[in-house]
Amino acid sequence: MKSKFHPSVQVADILSQWVGCARVIYNAKCDEDKYLRTYARKYLPVGTWPEVDKTYSQFKTDLTSWLKDCPSQILRNSATIWYHTYQRFFKGLGGRPKRKTRATGSYIWLTQELFRIRWEGRIAFVDLGTVKNPVGTISVRLSRKRVPNQNPKSIWIKKTNAGWSIAFSYDNGIDLEESTSQAHLNHLKTLDESTLLSMITPVDRGVARPVQTDADYPFQFSEKDKAKFKYRDKLVRRFQRQLARQKKGSGQRKGTLARIAKLKNKDKCVRENFWHQTTRKIVDNSKVVVIEDLKLKNMIRRPKAKVCAITGKWEKNGARAKAGLNRSLLVAGLGQFEQFLFYKMAMANKPLFRVSPHHTSQECANCGHTHPSNRKTQSDFECISCGHSDNADHNAALVIRKRAVNLILNSGTELTSTHGNVLRLRANANPSKTTAEKSNVAMGCSSKKKAA
Ligand SMILES: [Zn+2]
Repeated sequence: MKSKFHPSVQVADILSQWVGCARVIYNAKCDEDKYLRTYARKYLPVGTWPEVDKTYSQFKTDLTSWLKDCPSQILRNSATIWYHTYQRFFKGLGGRPKRKTRATGSYIWLTQELFRIRWEGRIAFVDLGTVKNPVGTISVRLSRKRVPNQNPKSIWIKKTNAGWSIAFSYDNGIDLEESTSQAHLNHLKTLDESTLLSMITPVDRGVARPVQTDADYPFQFSEKDKAKFKYRDKLVRRFQRQLARQKKGSGQRKGTLARIAKLKNKDKCVRENFWHQTTRKIVDNSKVVVIEDLKLKNMIRRPKAKVCAITGKWEKNGARAKAGLNRSLLVAGLGQFEQFLFYKMAMANKPLFRVSPHHTSQECANCGHTHPSNRKTQSDFECISCGHSDNADHNAALVIRKRAVNLILNSGTELTSTHGNVLRLRANANPSKTTAEKSNVAMGCSSKKKAA
């Protein structure tokens, strides 16, 4: 839960310094690690790796005397964040910690010794600094629903061009990296097909309809929201043109930067709100959720350049079609959707599965026939084999559900735990079991054909 706040000039100056010092430590740890790994590779026996630890005092030198003005807890916490990121990397949950920039690393983590909170109704007065060295107070106004009945364990403060924000962090005792989906799956395997079909909520994600479940209606931004996105995008472009003409370091330029940041922040808030509401609705109204195992990074990656083999000339590679602000924003949103869905499902103790996204848009949910020409247009689906017609995204959602049911019932399903509670459902490479899966598909199909 994130809230805006407006610090006084003095407090903002101090916070900015802290943010900068924390980033210096984080980046220094990254550089140190890179250096040590290179050293180990060159001069140490194969398989020897430098130790990953939380030490940071080696960075406090005569050249960085300003680090002494920053409370050591802030520096320690920054090193701890780096350490945790590394631990996640060892578990295969994320990448190695990377150097942060002003845009990606302007935040601090304050643990209990660095703040004290007084409540006055909905307003929280947060005294910053240690008891010995208090630096000032900020006030945060919360909406009535959000006033908690306990004090937070720690707080996160973030600085952007659009202003400051603060997040209170609590310990709810749920370990998001611990998987409970496996236990759920063992139970689901004992159920029959029709029960599973009624229990599973499939989620298809796409460009035209951001989120489509098995329900008749999609989750979509309102027309008003869409119009406002467009309007703000137009303004941002205008300000960016202005920015190009303005002198670097000038006050005018600073103002334009702040205006752009504010508009973008507004967009971000609206989108975040939409994803929060959508995931909340999905989690509350479902027992089991299945999503596609999308490679979101590949969706915004630039396509490879194409060269004609005969003439050696450049050919069209669809880069224009793939580019565009909206697409990258959408992909960013889909990533956020997954994140929100993941932690909300984990908190509700419900299982979340992923299935292969291969050809979900071309497969018929009725008979299983897969062909590119099944999809007539972006929105219409009509099977050329059985004549089944539906909205393309709705059809894809049904295909996802069918796929999940087949994989759950097929005892040869191989499961890999990825990202904590999310399980990836996959057919086993074992041929005998693949046949079992195939017969499953065939049985499901024939019974439906009879019904039709
Ligand atoms: Zn069909």
